[in-house]
Amino acid sequence: MLPADDHTHSQFSWDSFHGNMRASCQHALAVGLPAISFTEHVDFTLWNAPPGGWAWDEGIRGSYDDPVGPGGHGHFMGAPLEVDAYQAAIEDCRTRFPDLTIRSGVEMSEVHWHTGPVRDVLSRGFERIVGSIHTLPDLRARGEHLLVDHAKDQRSPLDLLSAYLSEVEAMVASDGPFEVLGHIDFSLRHWSPGDGPSPWGQVEEQARHVLGVLAASGRVLEVNTRLPLDLRVVRWWHEAGGGAVSFGSDAHVPGDVGARFREVSQAVASAGFRPTDDPTAFWGRT
Ligand SMILES: [Zn+2]
Ligand SMILES: [Zn+2]
Repeated sequence: MLPADDHTHSQFSWDSFHGNMRASCQHALAVGLPAISFTEHVDFTLWNAPPGGWAWDEGIRGSYDDPVGPGGHGHFMGAPLEVDAYQAAIEDCRTRFPDLTIRSGVEMSEVHWHTGPVRDVLSRGFERIVGSIHTLPDLRARGEHLLVDHAKDQRSPLDLLSAYLSEVEAMVASDGPFEVLGHIDFSLRHWSPGDGPSPWGQVEEQARHVLGVLAASGRVLEVNTRLPLDLRVVRWWHEAGGGAVSFGSDAHVPGDVGARFREVSQAVASAGFRPTDDPTAFWGRT
């Protein structure tokens, strides 16, 4: 039995221009998932342009506040979630796919910095609330931020991971309204074997501390299957007293829904977590 995919994006996320909610539901059923959550992007942090300017793929939706800002291309902000249209699409899919549990959701960036706007969005009613860090301080401009994809150019892979974990700790230590910590390994999406051995071993003490703070908050650790998450981290989560894990493909196209779920869920089971009586729910401790 595969777990639910509790982190996916559809056409309602500003960066998911090949997203298709109906096709994602079809794919979820085809690969044997019991449930899918559409956790669309909700972002409030302004991103500084990288030194070379923005190079978004065609189809990205968002706005620039100032064409003469850093990099000459202004701060970028992803387009807001169109909640009414999104919720109507969720209802349509529930009617079309009665054998699939379909949950509404959001992936909110830097929840702890934007408590007011975050609560406004959540007042519209969502079932899965993922909190994620997507930005780090721009070392060129005090108090401003870069997308992690660009912040990596200012740091070594190890420093990037450590800085990322520091911001994760600040978010999970806050009382921000989110249930699941998204992709704790996000900064490693840019790490390659050529950069040296996976840096998790070098940040073990810091990572265990962050996981302890997360466990004390009662929140859930997401096992993001994109890389996928290093199993050492799942074991540290168990040893920290973590109560549950979610699984998330972070699919931005329908064909990625449930990607690598069979092998990753087997590995997670070996690290001390298992399904509960409800196959659509988070996995609990063994
Ligand atoms: Zn994310
Ligand atoms: Zn995501």
